[in-house]
Amino acid sequence: MKQRVEIVKRIMDSNEQLAQQNRQKLDQNQVFAINVMASPGAGKTTFILQTIKGLPENMRLGVIEGDTAPVTIDADKITAAGMPAVQINTGGDCHLDANMVGLAIDQLDLQDIDLLLIENVGNLICPAGFALGNHANILISSTPEGDDKPYKYPNIYRGIDVLIINKTDLLPHLDFDMDYFREGVEILNPGLKTFAVSAKTGEGFDQWLAWLEEKVSENQA
Ligand code: MG
Ligand code: ZN
Repeated sequence: MKQRVEIVKRIMDSNEQLAQQNRQKLDQNQVFAINVMASPGAGKTTFILQTIKGLPENMRLGVIEGDTAPVTIDADKITAAGMPAVQINTGGDCHLDANMVGLAIDQLDLQDIDLLLIENVGNLICPAGFALGNHANILISSTPEGDDKPYKYPNIYRGIDVLIINKTDLLPHLDFDMDYFREGVEILNPGLKTFAVSAKTGEGFDQWLAWLEEKVSENQA
């Protein structure tokens, strides 16, 4: 048992070092990077596409798409929207790590990017444990997943900078208690920046986009 703990610690230490290298490369090129996490089906790709649509045209974007299988469905949607996208196939692994993101970063022209959006693998457990070198961690929680998710997956809620509550357009059809959900989040991450949106209709995106634009310009100042 002790040996296993030691190996796990070494893996995490080297991931941390690689994440710092990624951050250096991003900062040298004044790229603001966000790590978008969520469970499968929460609407990560749709959210990213709606975000791309709403940002000013002169903001230069890059996207890294994490997927467990070599299917390019999500990456194709991003490239169809005219964005440079690099796909990471994790080969079945359930999260991105700093090494994979470093390899993807090296395929992008960082000098030509202001904002890098990283779509992590759909999973609420381990993506939270692997630093990638990004500046902000975003979690998308969608209403059909239920209002109990903060209570069941506390770790991912503790480590995030922004929470997106997606699929608000479905609220009339669901037993989703917004107060109960938000109380659970507040215990884990007091004062967490939260935006309730529908990535499908674009409802609620103005405030999220304003937050993001401010962060990108702060990063370039
Ligand atoms: Mg996706
Ligand atoms: Zn994993």
